Amino acid sequence: MNTQNIRQTVVELCVELSHRGHFSGTGGNIALRIDAAHIAVTPSATDYLTMTATDVCVLRLADLQQVEGERTPSVESGLHARVLRARPDVQASIHTHQPVASACALLGQALTVPAGPMQRSLGRRIPVVGYAPSGSGWLSSRLARALRPDTNAYLMLNHGVLCCAATTWAALQAVEDLEALSKTLLLHAISARAEREPLAQPALQRIVDALAA
Ligand SMILES: [Zn+2]
Repeated sequence: MNTQNIRQTVVELCVELSHRGHFSGTGGNIALRIDAAHIAVTPSATDYLTMTATDVCVLRLADLQQVEGERTPSVESGLHARVLRARPDVQASIHTHQPVASACALLGQALTVPAGPMQRSLGRRIPVVGYAPSGSGWLSSRLARALRPDTNAYLMLNHGVLCCAATTWAALQAVEDLEALSKTLLLHAISARAEREPLAQPALQRIVDALAA
């Protein structure tokens, strides 16, 4: 099994996610399918801008047994494995704490996706997965129960998001689309509230300005 190329793709995808502001520090992690039995995952607690292909871990999909790499695999390996086992069509699973979609994950409301390209990328409705601690089997089970064949984005309550897709770059696009959609929906909700509560308008305007920056 030659895993060099896919491990290098993990590095490139993490750098891209960092540059686009979706990964901050060591927050966020990804898994890519190598073949029917193996996945490549990011190592735990790593600076993604200095990570190299040799830092990437290769695990057996069935039981998360590590078969390549010296580093400790991401604590969310189990979360990604549930996605890759349940969705044979998925090649890439990305977990982020991206700023605006994570704000929506704090609000705990499912998002409705408008008809068009975003629906093809994300699905029609982005559900909320109930809270469970990071890296726990409880969180993995909760996400597994929420998984749908036609939904590529999930909000994890009080935590962050998970996006997946049939190719690495489609998964990156799903992350971007989710962030853009979250911003639109949040701005809409703020405008509606400003109309209802004129006294709150200056404070709400500061949030709008920060989101637009
Ligand atoms: Zn997380």
